[in-house]
Amino acid sequence: MALSFYSLQASAIEISNRYRSPRNPERSVRKATTLIILHTTEAPERSSLNKLSERGEAHYCVTPSGRIFAIVDRDREAYHAGRSMWNAKEDVDKFSIGIECVGYHNEPMGIVQLKAIASLVDMLKKMYGLSDEAVICHSHVAYGAPNKWQKRRHRGRKRCGMLFATTSVRNILDLSSKPRVDPDTRAGRLVVGDPYLRNVLYGKMDIMASHYPSKKQPAKSTSAKAPSAKKSPVKKPKAANVAETKNTNVKSTYKISAHKSSPKTLNDLKAQGYKCRGTVAKGKTAMMIVGSKWKSSSTYYVIRGKVTSGSSINPLRIEEGTAIWTK
Ligand SMILES: [Zn+2]
Repeated sequence: MALSFYSLQASAIEISNRYRSPRNPERSVRKATTLIILHTTEAPERSSLNKLSERGEAHYCVTPSGRIFAIVDRDREAYHAGRSMWNAKEDVDKFSIGIECVGYHNEPMGIVQLKAIASLVDMLKKMYGLSDEAVICHSHVAYGAPNKWQKRRHRGRKRCGMLFATTSVRNILDLSSKPRVDPDTRAGRLVVGDPYLRNVLYGKMDIMASHYPSKKQPAKSTSAKAPSAKKSPVKKPKAANVAETKNTNVKSTYKISAHKSSPKTLNDLKAQGYKCRGTVAKGKTAMMIVGSKWKSSSTYYVIRGKVTSGSSINPLRIEEGTAIWTK
């Protein structure tokens, strides 16, 4: 089948029609486009493409090798966001473009794929006149109906695409800003149903930082006094309106206080009165053991004799068998 080409200034990107959806004719033309929503398919390439095409669930799909497939016509509605709300407006499908990326919400993607996503996003941003902040993740907009566990409508129905909210990935996507608050939880339209997700989307934690080069790392010998000891994924603080009010306590836990008495060994922990609260196992997460204190600087993770503070633990690297200690 023919390929279509969108020429845009200096760059032209190649988009294949091989998985164009048979649903196209039945989908209505979208009246507005104010958001670009990034998803992760959570499935391998072939099955992702087949399913997306059959059901018309995205406008584009980007594969690990960087190929871009058009699924639903760009100006029609694709059913990609499900139960969703952004800034009080429900049914995000009606005003957004959906890009599915073959991969998983909590796993790093290859640079080739990220660069292809970047060029597609760049093209769409220019076409629709959108800012970097309009490029968000499915998990930003999805919300859940009240259920057995959560009595109210809540944010956190899905973690889909959440890696695209991290600073390290956005640097590669050439997106320099992102929403600083959740407009719907702030206004009380929704409650926070997944504190970890909120932290990934809006907190200082960058769960992908260890997988990608830090933009702040000085280029070779450009600055003699550039510190090389620590790479910091933390962006420079912005004005007062940046932090969601409820987030203030979360922020403070991320300030790594390197005071001299922080325990370095199991014996230090015992000597300082820390107690083991449980061990991470299948189906037993750190959150289940110590709740939101899992990322606190006074929570310690012990694996193979190594002691790591909750403020610097990589949540993706908490292995089974890790003991969690708190006071
Ligand atoms: Zn999704």
